[in-house]
Amino acid sequence: PMYYEFKPEQPIKAQHGTTLRCKTWEAEAALRMLENNLDPAVSLVYDELIVYGGAGRAARNWKEYQTIVRTLKNLEPDETMLVQSGKAVGVLRTWPHAPRVLIANSNLVPAWSTQEYFDELDKLGLMMYGQMTAGSWIYIATQGILQGTYETFAAVADKHFGGTLRGTITVTAGLGGMSGAQPLAVTMNDGVCLVIEPIDERVKQKVREGYLDAQARDLDHALEICQHSKEDGIGWSVGLTGNAATVLPKLLKRGFKVDIVTDQTSAHDLMDYIPEGDIHEVLTLRAENPEEFKRQALASIVKHCQAVIDMQAAGAVALDYGNNLRGQAEKGGLQVRDENGQFLYPGFVPGYIRPLFCEGKGPFRWAALSGDPQDILRIDRALLETFPDNKMLARWIEKAQAKVPFIGLPARVCWLGYGEREKFGLVINDLVARGEVSAPIVIGRDHLDCGSVASPNRETEGMKDGSDAVADWPLLNALANTASGADWVSLHNGGGVGIGNSTHSGMVIVATGTPEKAERLRRVLTTDPGMGVFRHADAGYELAQQVAEERGVKIPGRE
Ligand code: NAD
Repeated sequence: PMYYEFKPEQPIKAQHGTTLRCKTWEAEAALRMLENNLDPAVSLVYDELIVYGGAGRAARNWKEYQTIVRTLKNLEPDETMLVQSGKAVGVLRTWPHAPRVLIANSNLVPAWSTQEYFDELDKLGLMMYGQMTAGSWIYIATQGILQGTYETFAAVADKHFGGTLRGTITVTAGLGGMSGAQPLAVTMNDGVCLVIEPIDERVKQKVREGYLDAQARDLDHALEICQHSKEDGIGWSVGLTGNAATVLPKLLKRGFKVDIVTDQTSAHDLMDYIPEGDIHEVLTLRAENPEEFKRQALASIVKHCQAVIDMQAAGAVALDYGNNLRGQAEKGGLQVRDENGQFLYPGFVPGYIRPLFCEGKGPFRWAALSGDPQDILRIDRALLETFPDNKMLARWIEKAQAKVPFIGLPARVCWLGYGEREKFGLVINDLVARGEVSAPIVIGRDHLDCGSVASPNRETEGMKDGSDAVADWPLLNALANTASGADWVSLHNGGGVGIGNSTHSGMVIVATGTPEKAERLRRVLTTDPGMGVFRHADAGYELAQQVAEERGVKIPGRE
């Protein structure tokens, strides 16, 4: 596809301040968040409109980007723009409280929903991979996943290491958009983290951004740093330029003691997992002979996944971090399941996160359209005042303020649950109304949320009632958010784990400070986490049933 034609002359950066280029703040918000996704400081491969997660794009190509921008600028307060896989395809007259943008990305009829078929359509310029928040314009750079990763490692610490990762070594791979959060998430839990990444510049970038503490010269140097930090009990992270499929077996061979092993390379798409070998040769191979590249990628994935299984056998806690490494290795012929069909090592959701989903919790976030970090710090203060008894949250905000850089529009991620989101959305709207923040605030969440995703190798792995692959829930979620008055709603295929492996939806709503907006925030921020409570109560999780009962979530037959 012709990505480069019509590329803007200046690199894109989200507009700051209170001057509107669109006719409503809602359309302006969508425009700024689209720009923010593509900001070269935020996006992974700016020239190709790739935001994160392998080939997750914000718009189909630069020409379609320009059309989306023009359409948003002309959009009337009672109109809705339709986006099909990164291309604006229609404008409808709806009404002021309807979404301004409705997005469907990467969806295929189920029997056709394979990576291979998708790639053909992509090549013809008919489709775009939207990942989760790339094509739905609510990516907030690496911070977006940081809290989830931090909480996941905190849960690992609670379950296996007496509540802290102090004195433990975690080995993982990938220093891209989302994976780059891993080292900081480990050190925030006081552990030591070794991350392997084949692209040297990515290692350097994460050191520059403050997500990674140091880059090692070579493997010996890396292990030396890890061992010393472990003995001294300090949280420290080190990046090693290399390939996980090469380095992990070396660690095993040396008998290096690993406490936790996971991985967040882009294994979900064989074109984005980097096979073993000289990095320049391998990248040339990808351009010249994609089929051979994919064959080699799959062979490396098998080796990599086998090493994770072997490390587990050697005593490490192993967990899959949502990139479908196990599923791909299985395709490559590796035995990744036991005799009962369960994966040999668990995914992070059934292992650690599902109880949070039962309470309607998930990666909720907000971004300051003003571009002013003070707005986020003002909201941080309001958050601590609104939930004074929540110690986890206070700890997160303290660590985030100290360690998380703002990249692109200032933003904050914060896992809030049913009841909390509505309450806090209204607090934010009030701050906007009173002028305590300098412009409207965008409120949204990742598609990896409690009630918005069906993904049998990840969010819905091992559901209690066996409903892992039931995709009605994310469809209902998108419809429910549209009916409740979100400002943009999206419905995607293939996020996280690759085409055909997941269905998921997203929503964003803009706190503009008006009383009408307060009503819509009340509805949307109840509906959306409510879907998580419905989903998990229906699947038989007692915690979700209890939450429904205590917080007045209406479930037919259970009232
Ligand atoms: P990304 O493409 O930005 O980064 C992936 C990184 O992995 C790249 O820097 C790449 O060079 C590196 N890599 C590729 N092959 C490697 C190998 N053999 N050894 C070591 N490193 C290798 O992608 P991302 O945004 O960081 O996402 C990574 C994966 O995590 C994707 O599969 C994505 O779908 C998934 N994901 C999971 C979650 C979650 O909550 N667990 C959330 C978002 C994304």
